[in-house]
Amino acid sequence: MITNKQLFLLNTAQTSNSPKMLEIDFAEGIYLYDQDGKAYIDLVSGFAVSNIGHRHPKVLEAIKAQLDKYLHLTVYGEYVQTPMVKFAEKLVSVLPPDLNNVYFVNSGAEATEGALKLAKRYTGRTGIISFNNAYHGSTHGALSVMGNEYYKQAYRPLLPEVSFINFNEPADLALITEQTACVIMETLQGEAGIRVASTAYMLKLRQRCTEVGALLILDEIQNAFGRTGKLFAFEHYGIVPDILLLAKALGGGMPIGAFISSKKVMGVLAENPILGHITTFGGHPVSCSAGLASLEVLLEENLTEGVTKKEMLFRELLVHPLIKEIRGKGLMLGIQLDSFEQVEKVSSLCSDQGIIIDWFLHCETAMRIAPPLTIKEEEIRHVCAVILNVLDQLHTH
Ligand code: PLP
Repeated sequence: MITNKQLFLLNTAQTSNSPKMLEIDFAEGIYLYDQDGKAYIDLVSGFAVSNIGHRHPKVLEAIKAQLDKYLHLTVYGEYVQTPMVKFAEKLVSVLPPDLNNVYFVNSGAEATEGALKLAKRYTGRTGIISFNNAYHGSTHGALSVMGNEYYKQAYRPLLPEVSFINFNEPADLALITEQTACVIMETLQGEAGIRVASTAYMLKLRQRCTEVGALLILDEIQNAFGRTGKLFAFEHYGIVPDILLLAKALGGGMPIGAFISSKKVMGVLAENPILGHITTFGGHPVSCSAGLASLEVLLEENLTEGVTKKEMLFRELLVHPLIKEIRGKGLMLGIQLDSFEQVEKVSSLCSDQGIIIDWFLHCETAMRIAPPLTIKEEEIRHVCAVILNVLDQLHTH
C-alpha cells in the first residue's frame, strides 16, 4: 500500500529535496508525537508559532465555542464579527496608544504586503528601505524587501525603488531620506541567524524616520508575544513603530496575521481608492477566537516573565568548543557553529534522540533554538545535555 510519506512526495508541492518527513500523530505542550508514539521536544515552536505550547486547552475551548456559532461569513471589513472585534480590543489594550487600529490578514507575508502599501499610500512616496539579510515573507512584495539575492534572482522583476542598508550600522541611516515611504525592519533579525541591534542604534533609526517623515515598520512576526522576554520586542528599546507586523504566534496555532497602526494612518485605506486593501478570510472568526484565547493565556500565566531566566539557563549550559557564539534575546537563540554540515548533523542526531532543532534561511551555520515559552527548567537541562552529547560525538570524530 502506498504510504502517506510517499503520497506527500508525490502529490504535494515540495520546496526542497530534503524535507524533514516527520509524520506527527498529535502534539501537546512542547511535545510532538510521531506515528510510532515517539516523543519529540519541539525546540523550534513550529517556527515561532507555538509560544504557549501546542494545543493549549483554553485555545481549543475557544475554537470549539466558535465552531458552534459561525465560520466564514463575508469578506474583511463589512460585518461586525465579535471574535475579531474582541481580539482587536485586547491587542490594542496591550500596545502603546498610537498602535490602536488593527487590520487582520491571513499570514505574515500578507501583513508585510498590507504595510508596504499603507506606507506608500499614506506618505505619497515610493522609496522603501530594507535590511541586508532581512526576511519578511515570500510573496512578490515581501520578496522585494528580502535581503538575500539568492532567493530573489529567479523572480525578478520585483518592486522598484527598494534599497538595502546594514543592520545596526548608524552610518547607513543617512540613506533614509524625504523620498523614503518606509523603513521595514525586523526588531530582532530572525532568519539572519538572530541579530540584535543596540539601543543607541534603534533610537537613532526611530529619530531619523521621524525627521524625514518616513514610516517605521517593525516586523515582529517572529519576535512578539513574549518570545524575547517582553510582550513585544520593541519594548526593549523604548521606541514605538508607525506600523507593527504580527503573525505566527498571533493565532495560538491558527493562521492569522495583522498590520497595526494609528487610526489616522490606517484611515487612508478607506478612500481614494476605497477598499485600499482587500482580503476574503482576513480576521477569520475561528483564528481570532484562538488568538484572543492565546493572548489571554500568555498574560494570565505570565509566560513572558520567566523567559529571560530560561535564556540564561540555555546560555549557562550550552558551553562547548564547537559553539562559537550564542546570539539572541529570550527564547529566540542562534547557536553559532562552524559549518552547515555540523548543523545538519546535530539536527539529525538530536532528532534521533527526540529533539527538534533547525537552522536559518540566511544563516545555515547556526542552530535555531526557540522552544515554547512554557518549557520547564528540567526540560531545558535535558535538551542541553543531549545537544552537548551530540556535539561531543562530532568533536571526537
Ligand atoms: N516576517 C518574518 C520576520 C518571518 O520570520 C516570517 C516567516 O518566517 C514572515 C515575515 C512571513 O510569514 P508567513 O510565513 O506567515 O508569510
